[in-house]
Amino acid sequence: MTDSSHKHPWEFDQQHVWHPYATMVNPLPVFPVASASGVRLKLHDGRELVDGMSSWWSAIHGYNHPVLNGAAHKQLAAMSHVMFGGLTHRPAVDLAALLIEITPAPLQKIFFCDSGSVSVEVAIKMAIQYWHALGQPDKKKLLTIRSGYHGDTCGAMSVCDPVKGMHQIFSGILPSHYFADAPRCGFDDPWDEQDIASLRALLAQHHGHIAAVIMEPIVQGAGGMRFYSPEYLRRTRELCDEYDVLLILDEIATGFGRTGALFACEHADIAPDIMCIGKALTGGYMTLAAALTNSRVSDGISRGGQGVFMHGPTFMANPLACAVARASIQLLLSSPWKRQIATIEAQMKEGLAPCSALPGVAEVRVLGAIGVIELSEPVDMAVIQPRFVAEGVWIRPFGKLVYTMPPFIMGQDDLSHLTGAMVRVVERYLSTRA
Ligand SMILES: *Cc1c(COP(=O)(O)O)cnc(C)c1O
Repeated sequence: MTDSSHKHPWEFDQQHVWHPYATMVNPLPVFPVASASGVRLKLHDGRELVDGMSSWWSAIHGYNHPVLNGAAHKQLAAMSHVMFGGLTHRPAVDLAALLIEITPAPLQKIFFCDSGSVSVEVAIKMAIQYWHALGQPDKKKLLTIRSGYHGDTCGAMSVCDPVKGMHQIFSGILPSHYFADAPRCGFDDPWDEQDIASLRALLAQHHGHIAAVIMEPIVQGAGGMRFYSPEYLRRTRELCDEYDVLLILDEIATGFGRTGALFACEHADIAPDIMCIGKALTGGYMTLAAALTNSRVSDGISRGGQGVFMHGPTFMANPLACAVARASIQLLLSSPWKRQIATIEAQMKEGLAPCSALPGVAEVRVLGAIGVIELSEPVDMAVIQPRFVAEGVWIRPFGKLVYTMPPFIMGQDDLSHLTGAMVRVVERYLSTRA
């Protein structure tokens, strides 16, 4: 028996509580947060940090927002949860209606999930079950692009970048899929036809075995923070149609305005057959995700084979999460979000620019409310993390990437504090390593 009361809570944390991608033997220190409000995290020692991460893409309106608090309180008084098998409720129906209205027109059916990774699992199962129901059980492989990230569960992991993902460790149990070269044309670069050659060749050769192409539209997030040409996405849509393969777009990171469009697929003016959303869906209040699909897929699954879709999480369409999600989307749509993001984009471009000349910096890039400093070498987290905190900002690098995706509500002063701190920390870090 372990009794937490005898230990200091942070000591207990260090000895017993696993953090994301962390070790339980001499873990790096973590910073205890007492509260959060607006764009600030308040640490237990009283220090305040300007939040550059939106808690991994999600807290787009900042923290402790009165409108979202109000939606949660109101729903809590009615019910926080009921099962979704055989029952339904207004929070789910109202949120579904809103999501179907704001996502691309063909997406008319929605499946609520409890996390982003689960929505990717659901999307993959939908695609496979669709072809199975149509009498084409051979179409069960996926095709994706390198440098992708789709989550940490096994199905999702199998379509993450095979090198930077964890495929070797789990190679015995992960299904093997097809990987095309990642697009090289950046968001604003002129289109190079050669970019799509690898995807085209794999589709031409293997389409009889491929259920779906799955990719993150425009921005590849945790697999490298890469921004690619909308033309790549348009071509992918055309090729999926040509070879009769479904297209799954993972908008979990990009959805709800982050790239400057409400959904990143709008940059290419295309619609997927299945779309995953999550992260910012509840404004960062709690976990909720969804997979939306068109009538072709839902009819195919429902009229053939089993006749029912084989998935149903315990906490499906949690009313509390649905109510907050609807309030968060309404808050976003009623705000000048496009202008806010354009302003953030312009300011980040200027603010981070001094880094591009530094030796040890490979590239600085900004798209929408996403700013990335890519270094030539992976950063030493033990060294760099405390320096950001000392500068009064919360930035959480990974690998070679020092990046930010601030809450959309961040004002000019806080943003220049944030980018200034990033530039100072990176500059000092690189100069002491040289
Ligand atoms: C974060 C993320 C996921 C996984 O979502 P979780 O809620 O962490 O399971 C999947 N796809 C993309 C693109 C993501 O950024």
